[in-house]
Amino acid sequence: MSRFWSAVTHGLTPYVPGEQPKIDNLVKLNTNEHPYGPSPRVIEAIQAAASDALRLYPDPNADRLKLALAARHGVRPDQVFVGNGSDEVLAHAFLGLLKHELPLWMPDISYSFYPVYCGLYEIAHRIIPLTEDFTLRVEDYLPQGERRAGAIIFPNPNAPTGRLLPLEAVERIVAGNPEAVVLVDEAYVDFGGDSAIPLVDRYPNLLVVHTFSKSRSLAGLRVGFAIGHADLIAGLERVKNSFNSYPLDRLAIAGAVASVEDEAYFQQSCRKVIASREALSTQMTELGFDVLPSAANFIFARHPSRDGAELAAALRQRAIIVRHFKAARIDQFLRITVGTDEQCAALVTALRKILHA
Ligand SMILES: *Cc1c(COP(=O)(O)O)cnc(C)c1O
Repeated sequence: MSRFWSAVTHGLTPYVPGEQPKIDNLVKLNTNEHPYGPSPRVIEAIQAAASDALRLYPDPNADRLKLALAARHGVRPDQVFVGNGSDEVLAHAFLGLLKHELPLWMPDISYSFYPVYCGLYEIAHRIIPLTEDFTLRVEDYLPQGERRAGAIIFPNPNAPTGRLLPLEAVERIVAGNPEAVVLVDEAYVDFGGDSAIPLVDRYPNLLVVHTFSKSRSLAGLRVGFAIGHADLIAGLERVKNSFNSYPLDRLAIAGAVASVEDEAYFQQSCRKVIASREALSTQMTELGFDVLPSAANFIFARHPSRDGAELAAALRQRAIIVRHFKAARIDQFLRITVGTDEQCAALVTALRKILHA
């Protein structure tokens, strides 16, 4: 608290990111980073960009990256928006596209940054509970008589549950709300879901947001993007150019373009994580955990007779960090990032000891 804070600052409830502890030999399974590094071509491109040219501002529109993403996803460059991590893309979308008189609809269990942006930008919102088994029910997101959404946002696959909503269900929500922007946050879709991007040409109210932080192993570079109708993108550009004209620096643009251009590496590294996820889910089930079906690079699991917070603390004592949320409905669960096979094995060994102690 400080008397120098503005009234807005006093009223904020900031997001708390997963910790990045500086402990040696840590098995870090708490923030859904990719266990393997980015394509070697990304490193080369960043090294090449680390030159005298850094005295110059980067391209404010990151046109090279928009071209590469447009080609990769089969859209036009004016249907692509890029930002400093998808968190920034989301922030601009909240202010520029999701803030209306009617409330923004979102699930009770989803990315905990969404309510933070609602607080920052004073956005009316309505929290809709997922079903008992954490499924998003399409009917809950369709207009009900007078009750309509100002806009809708949800992650797919959902976070932190990992559950996937089939594409036809996503389409029913988008088609059923032609007057509202529907933002689908596909941070994890490359680990086993069908992206809604092929729908953007048919639905001018659909915005799909992706990140380079998870499936492209580039959390440290801070690159995210959105794909949608050119009018939605133009709205995001207006907000961006009222905030920071150069969200992507020269190194980020160079590295992100190289990542998009190395499709084979990307596909192969995602496949490795998917295989490890399936193996880990099986082993956790054998240990007695209830494991939700996951289409992401993490699993969400609870033990029927052991407290979630205690399990997380016991793992931490063994230098293994997973994410535990002290939130209603999910406080018995652990969200565990899929690591390398060695990291997964260390986790399973530690859990076996903890459970049998
Ligand atoms: C990780 C994550 C993001 C943020 O990604 P950045 O691009 O690193 O900012 C956004 N949405 C969801 C659901 C995430 O899990």
